[in-house]
Amino acid sequence: MSRISEIENAINDIIERRPHSKDAVTAFKPVLLEKTRWKEKLEPVSPVTDVEQLKKGIPVIRQTKLFLPGDPWQEIILSLSSAAGDGFPEFRKDFDTIKSSIRKSPLPVHDFLGKFPESDEEFISEWSRKMGIRPDALSFVLFTAIRTVLEKRGEEYRDHIKAADWDEGYCPVCGSFPSLAIIQEKTGRRKLNCSNCAFEWDFSRVDCPYCGDHAPEGMDFFFIDGNQQESAYVCHKCKRYIITLNQVSDLTPQDREASSISLAHMDMIMQDKGFAPMAFCAWNVF
Ligand SMILES: [Zn+2]
Ligand SMILES: [Zn+2]
Repeated sequence: MSRISEIENAINDIIERRPHSKDAVTAFKPVLLEKTRWKEKLEPVSPVTDVEQLKKGIPVIRQTKLFLPGDPWQEIILSLSSAAGDGFPEFRKDFDTIKSSIRKSPLPVHDFLGKFPESDEEFISEWSRKMGIRPDALSFVLFTAIRTVLEKRGEEYRDHIKAADWDEGYCPVCGSFPSLAIIQEKTGRRKLNCSNCAFEWDFSRVDCPYCGDHAPEGMDFFFIDGNQQESAYVCHKCKRYIITLNQVSDLTPQDREASSISLAHMDMIMQDKGFAPMAFCAWNVF
């Protein structure tokens, strides 16, 4: 089965399992599929990284360039904007304007990348003003484009990172914080899933990925609707939460992002309780 049909099946399964999330997941679906198509097309890189540096907690992105001069940003943004317009018709006009604008003159994406993993808010407000669109639309396609490239690059670093026993709460590839945790039923281990590149790594179950607080006593889980498979881990020190899946069977890694989107109602509940996510993503900003 091709990767595209795998993702499509995974998305359809999620909609079946969590029917209340149908609208949200369906809206993101064209973008998730387009991202997958690009990952098949993008050039692979040979991993260059120093295991000793990784052992000191320095992510790959601080050691070597993960964004290459030849990355086809304009083409990626063009096709992601079309997909986003299909999923979010209320924003279609903005996405169409992004397309016509970059066809006239390319968006200087490399300027935006200077502050990554932070968002360069000045860049977003300057360019959305120039294009006459809502800043959220530009921010959405830019971060999705970045995620497309980073997911591809991150996959190539898996073996190197395994050898370094990475034990930080931020991503070994791109330095971003995780947006999802998965507790594996068989091993009881916790995996964190990066909010910007989908890389997954093992992390202690009793430490907070965000602030490092060690709280075997204070660790707290919120369960919603009595469902033991889905919870939110909260840290009372930094007031952050991470949506956590207690994995009953081995789900494919492909459905992580769609799973996160389908659990956005939990994000809303946690934010209502006064907690912030460890990483902001397109689906957990309300
Ligand atoms: Zn990452
Ligand atoms: Zn914390």
